[in-house]
Amino acid sequence: MTTLIEEAALQARVKAVGQEISRDAQGEPILLLGVLKGAFMFMADLMRQIDGDVTCDFISVSSYVGTTSSGEVQIRKDVDSPLEGRRVIIVEDIVDTGLTLHYLQGILETRHPSSLKTACLLSKPSRRKTTVPVDYIGFEIEDKFVVGYGLDFNEQFRNLPYIAVVEGAS
Ligand code: 5GP
Repeated sequence: MTTLIEEAALQARVKAVGQEISRDAQGEPILLLGVLKGAFMFMADLMRQIDGDVTCDFISVSSYVGTTSSGEVQIRKDVDSPLEGRRVIIVEDIVDTGLTLHYLQGILETRHPSSLKTACLLSKPSRRKTTVPVDYIGFEIEDKFVVGYGLDFNEQFRNLPYIAVVEGAS
């Protein structure tokens, strides 16, 4: 494994994204909706960087087996509270083909939030199979399989405080 994004760079960028979200919210309450499990660490750090009225909830979807995206998405755990009339920001670890996010955004729009935005720590633009709006992106990266800071390889490496590339895995 080789380090791709150091801990200090991650923290600095998460802080900047949190400040941007705070500015855009203009004092209105926001709901951060973390996509489990990969986003939990980003979500925790991001939430601490947001000033103002912010709450959180989590959703779990299954879309991924091994190191390739299947595009088949199932909800494993739904949100706990209604989204109607709320300013919702989906918090994702990484947008790869975009299929998971595209599906999630479609489902969540049917629940009539007053606004639906998305924050992704990482994006692999070269892998996109569908156009998907992402309002806040931490880092754009190349087509490499990455782990750490919540992201796993067969449930391992989520604990790393930095992002690393697993050589030979993508
Ligand atoms: P997409 O539907 O955009 O292809 O895939 C999104 C999901 O695939 C992410 O939420 C993440 O769980 C998984 N994924 C995509 N690329 C990577 C990667 O490089 N590393 C890890 N650990 N998961 C990835």
